[in-house]
This record gives sequence, C-alpha cells and structure tokens, in this order.
Amino acid sequence: MNPARLQRVLFVIVCWAVGIAAAHAQPQRVITPIKGDLYRFRNASHFSVFLVTPAGIIATDPIDADAARWLKAELAQRFAKPVKYLIYSHDHSDHISGGEVFADTAVVIAHENAKAVILGERRPTAVPDLTFSDRLTVELGGKKVELIYLGKNHSDNSIVMRFPDERALFAVDFIPVKSLPFRDFPDAYIDEWIESLRKAEALDFDILAPGHGEVGRKEDMRALRAYLEELREQVLGYLRDGKSVDEIKQLVKMEKYAGWGDYKNYLPLNIEGMARHLQMHRLPN
Ligand SMILES: [Zn+2]
Repeated sequence: MNPARLQRVLFVIVCWAVGIAAAHAQPQRVITPIKGDLYRFRNASHFSVFLVTPAGIIATDPIDADAARWLKAELAQRFAKPVKYLIYSHDHSDHISGGEVFADTAVVIAHENAKAVILGERRPTAVPDLTFSDRLTVELGGKKVELIYLGKNHSDNSIVMRFPDERALFAVDFIPVKSLPFRDFPDAYIDEWIESLRKAEALDFDILAPGHGEVGRKEDMRALRAYLEELREQVLGYLRDGKSVDEIKQLVKMEKYAGWGDYKNYLPLNIEGMARHLQMHRLPN
C-alpha cells in the first residue's frame, strides 16, 4: 500500500474509533413529543415525561444528575419556564437520582412509602417535599396530572401518573411494553402487581408511556397481566407437582411471548423469581 493510501486508511480507522468512543461516552439524550404539551425525555435506556404549562413545567423522574442538568438546560432553552413540580415514579435510584438539580424551583412529590425508602437507603436525590397515600391531583397553569397509587407491584411505592388532557399514562418498571419484567422480580410483590395492573386497566387513557422502551397502548397492559398470570399458573402447577426450579425452567411454555424484549435473558430469571415468590406464600403440606 502506498503511503498516501495508508494515511487515508489510518485516518478512517481513527475517525471510526473516535466515533465509537464518543457514542459510548455520551448517553443518548432526546426529547420527543407524546401529545399536546406532554413530552418524553430519554436518557439512554431510561425515560421520563414532562408537561409544559403556561405557569411552568411539571417534570417527572430526573433519572440521574447529569441527565437532569441536561434536561434542565434544554427546558430553559426550549420553553423558558421553570420546573415547578418534580414527581418521582418510585424510589429506585436508576430513575430518580439527581432530583436536587430541580429543587431550586420545584416542589418534589412522591408516594409516602417512597420517601421512607429514599431517606432510609440514602438515595442520591432530593427528599420529597410532599407525599400522598392514594391519590393527588397536581394542577398548574390550567393543566393537570393525577398521581395514583394502585398498591404494591414492582416496589411498594410505584405510582402511575395520568395526564387526562393528553389521555396518557406514565408508569415505570411495572408496566413494560412488549417486554418481560426485569430479571427475577427484585423488590416486587407479584400478586399485588397483577391486581394493580387490573386497576390500571380501569383508568381512562390511551397512550402508555413506560420508563423503558417504546410507547404503547392500554392493550399492552392487558398483555403484560396475561403474561404474569400465565407464568404464575404454570410455575405454581409445576411446584405442586414437586418439580425443581431447574426442571420448571425446562417445562414452562411461554413461546407466544418470544417476540417480546428480553425474552431469552429474562424468562429463566422471571421463572426463578416467580418460584421464589410462590414458595414463600404456599404451604406444601
Ligand atoms: Zn424500579
């Protein structure tokens, strides 16, 4: 290869390597409209939503401090309005770290059980100023969001946020859209989870905005409940037949969900978590 050509090839390789390094250094951050004044904020694989009103912005999960600083700057530039409320979906750090970034202008809201865990586990975020037990409606600039506690599910403090004008629901980690629940159901209450999905299905909305993955519809919520109910029934049946967890992993048939995200990674873990849950709550003899 002549020196000039070698130089060009090396240049291309260096650009490619720098491009890959840059893509890894910077999580993908983007704001996309959902409907009307409701937007979705993405930071890599995590998502939250925010509502713009004439009197300021209602923001939700800050995700982490870097993400929150990026979002705060974008909101100031695009809308020139302060964040007046910051609402946490639940206590888990990967969704609510960095709340202090908005605490200069925002009232921070969470479920009362979340505040106890945020304090107890010393989550790296702003402690909620305002908590509630069942329902709380936040109104700002003529717009509103309803905060609703449906019981225990993915945690003991997960809430859903319903935006009535936009007919949208924001729910994090306990209503994945066309994908399996996370790993082996850590921190979860599976029977209450199924029940809280049933309650969520009764809410009036069309658009389901989850904390991970694509936006879905109410139908995706029903499909997830069916998945949990079918998995529960099969695992319980095999436990009653005296099968081991390893045997159950071979026996469970959930092929109709093979097209869902994380099917191969998480199905064995979902089976382990379901078996652990059921073993804790059954008396074999
Ligand atoms: Zn979580």
